[in-house]
Amino acid sequence: MPLRDMDREQAWLLPPSLDDLLPLDHPARFVAEFVDALDRGDWTELGVEIEGDPMGAPAYHPRALLSVWLYGFMTGVRSCRKLETACRDQIPYLWLTGWQHPDHNTLWRFYKGHREAMRKLFERTVRMAVTMKLLDLAVQAVDGTKVEANASVYRTHNAEELRQLLNRVEAAIRDLEAQNEGGEDTPTVHLPGELANKEMLREQVRQAMADLESKERQKRINLTDRDARLMKTRGSVLLGYNAQAMVSPLEPDGGATGMIITAVGMADDGRDDPQLAPMIEQAEKTMGTKSEMTLADAAYHSGKGLEECARKGQSVAMPETRQQLLGDPYHKDRFTYDKRTDSFMCPQGQRLQYLRIQRLNGVPWRLYRTSEGVCQACPAFGVCTRSERFGRSVTIGPYDAALRHHRVWMSTDEAWVAYKRRKQLVEPVFGIIKEQLAARRFLLRGFANVSAEWTLLGTAFNLRTLWRVWSLGVFADLLLHGPKPHFAS
Ligand code: SF4
Repeated sequence: MPLRDMDREQAWLLPPSLDDLLPLDHPARFVAEFVDALDRGDWTELGVEIEGDPMGAPAYHPRALLSVWLYGFMTGVRSCRKLETACRDQIPYLWLTGWQHPDHNTLWRFYKGHREAMRKLFERTVRMAVTMKLLDLAVQAVDGTKVEANASVYRTHNAEELRQLLNRVEAAIRDLEAQNEGGEDTPTVHLPGELANKEMLREQVRQAMADLESKERQKRINLTDRDARLMKTRGSVLLGYNAQAMVSPLEPDGGATGMIITAVGMADDGRDDPQLAPMIEQAEKTMGTKSEMTLADAAYHSGKGLEECARKGQSVAMPETRQQLLGDPYHKDRFTYDKRTDSFMCPQGQRLQYLRIQRLNGVPWRLYRTSEGVCQACPAFGVCTRSERFGRSVTIGPYDAALRHHRVWMSTDEAWVAYKRRKQLVEPVFGIIKEQLAARRFLLRGFANVSAEWTLLGTAFNLRTLWRVWSLGVFADLLLHGPKPHFAS
């Protein structure tokens, strides 16, 4: 087979334009249309002056800078230095900027100045999907994923370790100062930089100690990112954040498949259960409507969350952490409440009388117990209870009614059929964000910064989904120039 000629020096008589080099359905074109569709009011909400200042040197157009950031996050290029490089040697970036080359400082200043307001773009992507009736509102799923912080886990210490570290650093500083202040016979061996580093470390340790002291329940703190926490993941411990997302699937008849993230959240502890009601609420607010049912795994199960959802008319399909115990013939749900006497009847026909209020973690529980010796004589002793001293107790918390109501619902086939969709809805979303958007680790530090980063990742994920719909050509014009979604206030 003959080989083709290859000439790297070849000149063009009529050079191709950048536009010729970018396919018509390229995601960069979608990003450009998305950004160009922002009007003056939208830019004002983003805190960007779109007209520019007539005085001074010309600045890069905000459209170019915003496009670069959005396209970068969509394709896993998230650092401003990598974006700067891409703006010099990658066709989609050159096309987006009109062959301009903003440097990393310019890109960083734009991001830093507007990252909080960029949440509006996330809301805009969701409203677009709702306005175009792309979403299947029958179901939504929530989940959390642990994302690593931009800090070394080895710089995480408890109060005692911090105290010892502070002592060592202060001793080192005293030593350096003594050497630098030595007489002419003693050469100054330590550079001022070394002293400055130690002083910086001392300041970090002091701040970390003050932070740790102010947080009652926190036992360890990281010196680099004081907001990051040690969290359990499958088989290991990670220093990071608990990033939350609520997702809704696209309408199955729409032609394209995929998900839209309708709410994003961030928690600095590993617990998911406090996030259930806020995430449902945020999704409803962003969409301007609500999904019929929310799917969540057992980590979200809590009486408080269920009661809040019930109060707001939210239906949730979710198992319990200890689901297997529900089949126990002596589970407390098998005990019948008698309102008249404020007592419970056990499966063996014995009465448990109200005894007193018991406080657990500050929450009041009503304690019921059998009369002395009743349980010890019961054939179910050893199964129902093993307490030789007190016999069987039943405690009723403030959210018991909501828990019982939810158990009745979760005993139906309908609930389990719905719940089985959870994994296929939300877990691939985290896979795409971590693998294709290269977000296994946050780039910034601090709770506010990683929250903004996570929100922009959510926006980028939604843009990828909307781009697929757009590239089908079905909604291309309608999607961007049709009924205009308004930013949420
Ligand atoms: S052990 Fe006590 S509470 Fe349990 S079934 Fe027997 S009598 Fe009732």
